[in-house]
Amino acid sequence: MASQTITINGNNPNIQPFLLRKAFDTHVHVFDPRLGPYATGRAYTPEDAPLESLIAFNQRLSKDPNENTIILVQPSPYKNDCSVMLQCLRKLKTQNVNAFGIAVLNLDVTTDAELKGMHGLGVRGIRLNLQADGKEVSVENLVSALQRTADRIRYLPGWIIQLFVPGWSWDCLHDTIRDLPVRVIADHLGGMLGPSKLPSTLQLNPTSQPGFKSLLSLAKQGRIFVKISGLYRMSNEMSMNFSDLQSIVQSFATEIPDQIIWGSDWPHTGDGHSRLNKSLEMKEPFRIINNSGILEQLREWMGDDVYSKMLVENPIGLYQN
Ligand SMILES: [Zn+2]
Repeated sequence: MASQTITINGNNPNIQPFLLRKAFDTHVHVFDPRLGPYATGRAYTPEDAPLESLIAFNQRLSKDPNENTIILVQPSPYKNDCSVMLQCLRKLKTQNVNAFGIAVLNLDVTTDAELKGMHGLGVRGIRLNLQADGKEVSVENLVSALQRTADRIRYLPGWIIQLFVPGWSWDCLHDTIRDLPVRVIADHLGGMLGPSKLPSTLQLNPTSQPGFKSLLSLAKQGRIFVKISGLYRMSNEMSMNFSDLQSIVQSFATEIPDQIIWGSDWPHTGDGHSRLNKSLEMKEPFRIINNSGILEQLREWMGDDVYSKMLVENPIGLYQN
């Protein structure tokens, strides 16, 4: 079949949609300067990605878009000002689109009453994103951020912490997360790299890379959900739909089938490494990603049952009303 997302059209009966009924896309962003300005000191300025385009994207991929759920994730150019995301959650509610949100907040200035208000709008967690600016991550800072965040949100029903960190960090975070009063979502394959991005010593056996065992162990204890998303951040094999990630994805599918969820990561922003010293005046283009091709591949790698768990059953249990 033709391999670009743009060629998939809901009106064409010959083209099969790829999301199952009641599927969750657990990782999407809205970038809309009409709704609110980006933060000063942000790492990059993205192209526009308004809510209407997000809904159109979801519908193109779906069999029954009305029954889908999308999770808006606060993207880094807005830093900890979630007002654009909250506006979108309100709008989606009026349009009867099922949606939740994951916020980024400065918890020192956010009151419990404000958190409760956000819960009412569908926010279900806090994202700690320490990779967007391409700088190094300090484990000590991360451990204390995890503990402080968990302490504030533990009383809010269904709230989780979402974390995008390099794969090796799970070794250092294992005991902290094991004992945390809230569960964690590991973004983008938990940061596990495919052979095309690994040093030669690890290329033959990518599941032996640092952090992998700890991540699986936390998931088996029910403490972590691994998000199958952002494959293009973990592999350079663009033309092959990132097929070097097969052993990693299959290991998740076999070992922790009840702890995986899927996210398109629409509109597919670039990554931190290419951003250092770039001008903020320039809008950074999005990647062009063959989402249907990736979904097809995931289904093949996992089998129908686990594929359905990832898209439907697992996220239903995680994002509660
Ligand atoms: Zn993203």
